[in-house]
Amino acid sequence: MTDYDWIVIGAGITGSALAYELSKKSFQVLLLEKDPIPDNATCYSYGGLAYWSGTTELTRQLGREGIELHRNLSEELEADTEFRELDLVLTIEAKDDPQTVAKSYSQFAITPELLDVKAACELEPLLNPKAIAGVLKLPHGHIHSQKTAKAYQQAFRRRGGEIKYEQVIELIRQENRSEGVKTAKNTYYATNTVVCAGGLTRSLLHQVGLSVPNYFTHAQLIKTPPVDIKLRTLVMPAVQQRFALEAMASNSEIQPLWDKPNSTSVASIFDAGAIQFLDGSFCIGQISALVTDPKAKLETSTAEVLIRNRIARILPSLSKIPGTCHHCLVAFTNKSIALVGNLKNKSAEGKNRQAPSFNGGEPVTGIYLFSGFTSTLVFAPPLARRFANWVVGEEDEILELLNNQLTTKPSLIGNS
Ligand SMILES: Cc1cc2nc3c(=O)[nH]c(=O)nc-3n(C[C@H](O)[C@H](O)[C@H](O)COP(=O)(O)OP(=O)(O)OC[C@H]3O[C@@H](n4cnc5c(N)ncnc54)[C@H](O)[C@@H]3O)c2cc1C
Repeated sequence: MTDYDWIVIGAGITGSALAYELSKKSFQVLLLEKDPIPDNATCYSYGGLAYWSGTTELTRQLGREGIELHRNLSEELEADTEFRELDLVLTIEAKDDPQTVAKSYSQFAITPELLDVKAACELEPLLNPKAIAGVLKLPHGHIHSQKTAKAYQQAFRRRGGEIKYEQVIELIRQENRSEGVKTAKNTYYATNTVVCAGGLTRSLLHQVGLSVPNYFTHAQLIKTPPVDIKLRTLVMPAVQQRFALEAMASNSEIQPLWDKPNSTSVASIFDAGAIQFLDGSFCIGQISALVTDPKAKLETSTAEVLIRNRIARILPSLSKIPGTCHHCLVAFTNKSIALVGNLKNKSAEGKNRQAPSFNGGEPVTGIYLFSGFTSTLVFAPPLARRFANWVVGEEDEILELLNNQLTTKPSLIGNS
């Protein structure tokens, strides 16, 4: 019994873009999202489009495709994504050598311009000249990521797609095929199921006995109402600590904790950044913590004080504006630029080599993954389009490559 061609789990930017692209291929698609009011990485995102950041032919190609797609997306979806092109200002700490920091950006598709403190403050007058040794300036894109996800969802619905607000609690199988999903209230049948559950992708797949190298950080940030202050650029640090934190996730000491989730913080970092949206509101961040339990509750009042103290050094006028501290999971992988493809017959990681199966049985077909992106907002939309083309049989070298890179291993915790 099959009601849908595809079930897409998760309506962040990845699931919304993918549901829309699949519906454009005339598939019957059901998008399942657990929260009627968004509370995910997409709704707390800065919205930056780092199309300049490609370091390989693949990421340069996707960067070009991504920015071109966003330039035309509002028109295609018939809703405003608030796309604009603006300067990204990467702050260099007063203690760092600007030339050395600039050199570390030489591998990117577009290399930044190094500005001294005077030129930096002319470009972004809210910067504190005493806190920086200069900035790197790059051309960047910007969207309102939640409005973009919503625009995808509305266009998806216009094409006959269905959205239901129910949490998927089980992936169901019949012999060696995935047959659909169960929520608390219903069972939905589909030929194919694709998991776009962001930071919860990992725990959802554990539930069927699979472990994928999809990790997450717990992010904390402040969202503000519209205010009169005007920030002209997107500000972030030139040396981002988050990348070092993400690199730690798969080291041999921390790896076992992902299969036995723990609510203790393994490490946390702070990257001072801010973006102002077109309505005048801000997103100011960000603390990222490695805590392997996705359900861990992080303390927000101390986090808010820390964010305000740290942003006061770089952008002093933002430190006291009214706002609320939020928490979300941000998925990533350090095996590839994203975990995209079909989970059938993947070779397993580690010693215990066997094809993926639901709880130790035969390999199961009809289950896909689309999660854990690097530069999600610029890469996921073009990859969603490529994914939809690929599943109708078009050759796609990038999808083949990502599909081949996708690995799984049996989960140690199984059903939970
Ligand atoms: C402060 C901050 C700034 C950022 N800035 C940038 C930036 O400038 N540029 C950039 O590219 N990226 C940025 N990111 C990262 C980017 O926002 C995320 O990578 C992206 O939004 C993730 O999208 P997603 O769809 O994978 O996950 P999410 O947005 O987390 O969506 C996953 C969805 O799945 C749903 N779900 C999970 N489990 C289930 C289930 N069992 N059943 C039903 N639904 C389920 C969740 O409720 C959620 O809505 C930033 C993130 C943060 C926090």
